[in-house]
Amino acid sequence: MCYLITSPGMNTRQTLLAIFDKLLDEFGKRNWWPGDTKLEIIIGAILTQNTSWKNVEKAILNMKKFNILDIKKLYTLDTSTLANIIKPAGFFNIKAQRIKAFIRFIYEEYGGTIKRLQNMDTQKLRELLLSIYGIGYETADSILLYAFNKPVFVVDGYTKRFLKNHNLYDGKFTYTDIQQYFMDNLPDNTYLFNEFHALIVYLCQTYCKKIPLCNSCPLKNKRKA
Ligand code: SF4
Repeated sequence: MCYLITSPGMNTRQTLLAIFDKLLDEFGKRNWWPGDTKLEIIIGAILTQNTSWKNVEKAILNMKKFNILDIKKLYTLDTSTLANIIKPAGFFNIKAQRIKAFIRFIYEEYGGTIKRLQNMDTQKLRELLLSIYGIGYETADSILLYAFNKPVFVVDGYTKRFLKNHNLYDGKFTYTDIQQYFMDNLPDNTYLFNEFHALIVYLCQTYCKKIPLCNSCPLKNKRKA
């Protein structure tokens, strides 16, 4: 039922790059990740777990209104007050604990200065982030890519749905295997990883839904997969 935009002799790298070019051409740059500071991007990455971006925006707006988008202020703020402020993001008690855990980490281990993490080796930084309460693969990689501009491919539910619907991938559907598939086959390039992930999200929100709208999708082509 799905159509590829590629032709038979293309290898995986060429296929992925052709898909990227087509999506970029159709949708334009997505300008991810919205956020004025690294702290705002990191908090957004935690808040967006299991909720829509619209709800995250409301929670971040609230944080701005209460003037608490600041590491020192968040360090001293009690968790229940923070939970109330970020309520629109859903799962607010857990997310408040997760934000506090990150803030404690940066305040107590790195003097409250996020920039001190910037030059750290990517793998080491990933391990550090994964060691913080409530930060899993997707959140850690979103932070690495969008806050620290590290070349790491982010995988989410949309990525999995696209690969499945489009018959593009026959490996295991684990986070690590899918990430490896993209990173092994694409040039190591932060801009490409940033834009490609955002384009796949948009593709899945508009065409590659649970029941895919292949007939109007820009990735539809003459050749049936
Ligand atoms: S909606 Fe587009 S990306 Fe999804 S399966 Fe159909 S042609 Fe492929």
